[in-house]
Amino acid sequence: MHRSRRTRIIATLGPTSSSFEMIKKLSDAGADVFRLNMSHGTHSDAANLYATVREVEKATGRPIGILADLQGPKLRVGVFKDEKIMLEKDQQFILDMDATPGTNKRVELPHPEIYQVVEPKTELLLNDGKIRLQIDKVEEQKIITTVLVGGELSNRKGVNVPSAILPLAALTEKDKKDLNFVLDLGVDWVALSFVQRPEDVIEAKEIIKGRASVMAKIEKPSAVHAIDEIIAVSDGVMVARGDLGVELPMELVPVKQKKIIRHARRAGIPSVVATQMLESMITAPVPTRAEVSDVANAVFDGADAIMLSAESAAGEYPEEAVAMMNKIASSIESEPSYRRMLGKDLATPEATTADAISAAAKQVADTIEAQAIVTYTGSGSTALRASRERPKTPLLVLTPNIGTARRLALVWGLNCVYSQDAVNFQDMIDKACNICHEYGYANINDRIVIMAGMPFGTPGKTNVLRISRVQDHHIKI
Ligand code: PGA
Ligand code: MN
Repeated sequence: MHRSRRTRIIATLGPTSSSFEMIKKLSDAGADVFRLNMSHGTHSDAANLYATVREVEKATGRPIGILADLQGPKLRVGVFKDEKIMLEKDQQFILDMDATPGTNKRVELPHPEIYQVVEPKTELLLNDGKIRLQIDKVEEQKIITTVLVGGELSNRKGVNVPSAILPLAALTEKDKKDLNFVLDLGVDWVALSFVQRPEDVIEAKEIIKGRASVMAKIEKPSAVHAIDEIIAVSDGVMVARGDLGVELPMELVPVKQKKIIRHARRAGIPSVVATQMLESMITAPVPTRAEVSDVANAVFDGADAIMLSAESAAGEYPEEAVAMMNKIASSIESEPSYRRMLGKDLATPEATTADAISAAAKQVADTIEAQAIVTYTGSGSTALRASRERPKTPLLVLTPNIGTARRLALVWGLNCVYSQDAVNFQDMIDKACNICHEYGYANINDRIVIMAGMPFGTPGKTNVLRISRVQDHHIKI
């Protein structure tokens, strides 16, 4: 039940991970949050995955977060007659507005905007930049290209045009439909692709109206430039390295990753590192040493969560990939150098009672070697501030709001337990001690540190710090 790993794991669901059995295996192997990729599959696929995750949640008893990732204004090719094709260097390849399934001569590119802004010699990057096409000729609904770098191209792969500025809205018509659908399902997080400006996030939030937390995917150079403004209006950020590494020179991505994580930590919102973390495990049971280092370094950078994409959605070894991330993160977190790094980048507390209590709780817990810091939270804001301190002591979050517990599942170190609000001061202590014992954080006679707000049930009122000893009578509650 109780997880000692602090860094969270997000696993994308897809064809190889759609059954109850497989999703349960991924959850048991360490996945804390599941991602529905709205670029693939139908609404009924998403609804089935959603329902299955909730069944798994019931079976495990641990709140699970569900993140719906909207496609955003990402350019994608259509589908192929045989699902995929092979492009050879120097061959001609045509992109057009015809929805007929493609061949190795042509495929649909269903974005009218692009036909107006590209010109001969412009390069098109496909499949995360693995394939390069150079434009020879542009007609009204047809782009004729020569393949500069070939490779395999399959259904709905992405297309980037780094050298052109495309007049695209933050939410496409498809995104709006998907968004309404996933909000009705009850997803906990919505990720916005290709955010360029803070206004893009604000626009989405006007539709979402607090029904889900909002994660801005940082995958455009303009989003990196406006990172603090975007963080200020977002509930979380994702370092979306797939597109970021195509839109920017790849060698800049590691530095941007560190910067994005650092700024998110300072603001106290979660950050996620995504894409190609264990890419080779799509087809192999073990990762490369370089991939192990990459996951380790994301943990060292202080990310809240690390994410699997195709590894868990379409790969041959989804469970092994989650288990590998779990092992790497746990191993790094046990290193003294990890604690030193977290301390070095720690932001100073803001002048609020929540920050004062969070910082004090961490220090008190260290001094008395408490077994847990327990925080009561309604909206989750106090828990976020407690996580921002990155305490060495395990954090246990008690909340009467299941939605809060699920949203916090992707935040560093927060272990959420759904629990009725305390009715009075003594009840607050008794509940905290009881749950710490029940979930294996503390034994009889161990001490815990409790953060709470009085009067009870008033949001944003964390103003009490209490040290308690777990006693016999707590385990009989
Ligand atoms: P995607 O986002 O998988 O939806 O493209 C992640 C990324 O770009 O890294
Ligand atoms: Mn992307």
